[in-house]
Amino acid sequence: MDPFDTAVTICRVAGLNPYQEAAQRSFKDLLSVVHTLRENGLDDETGKAMEAAVNIANSYIHSHFRYNLGMESEVATHCVSFALSDPTCQDDEYRRACSIEHSRRCLHCDAVQEIFKRLVTGLEVCKANFTDEVAVEKCSFAIEKAEEKINEYIMHAIRAFGQNYLWQELRLRVEPDPETVVFATSDFAMKVNR
Ligand SMILES: [Zn+2]
Ligand SMILES: [Zn+2]
Repeated sequence: MDPFDTAVTICRVAGLNPYQEAAQRSFKDLLSVVHTLRENGLDDETGKAMEAAVNIANSYIHSHFRYNLGMESEVATHCVSFALSDPTCQDDEYRRACSIEHSRRCLHCDAVQEIFKRLVTGLEVCKANFTDEVAVEKCSFAIEKAEEKINEYIMHAIRAFGQNYLWQELRLRVEPDPETVVFATSDFAMKVNR
């Protein structure tokens, strides 16, 4: 099966976390791109380094990233207030000023974004060795889509953190008079995509 063929029939139970599922699939696609580049002239050392970088990024994004998030953080990529605020909006409901400076960087967050650039450069270097132009296009599309889906998952994790934080804050706020306030939780039903 062509690993980049997005036209394959999808039949699975979805609903738990489609963002996470798409990001996981994207990391696999990036490994397939590296494999294709290695078949088309990418040197062993660079290929292995790229594979390692993709695997480390996958593990960081899925296992560690959300635990690094905070409503305020010295690292901009971990700062939920910064990510969810709209500086152009006049309404304070939609923005929150950070009280601490973003004076540090996260090497792992930076490395994730670096991978897409490295793969684009790698494809540019190797594309003359491809015998099939369509394969070049497929690699290019896979990198672009993976960047979009992985960043969508990052944004989803940030929104989820913000929602949980505000939910807790609301509950604490009404603690003194819990009998007059009702919290309702609704959930989406699971569905099968075909
Ligand atoms: Zn901040
Ligand atoms: Zn980070």
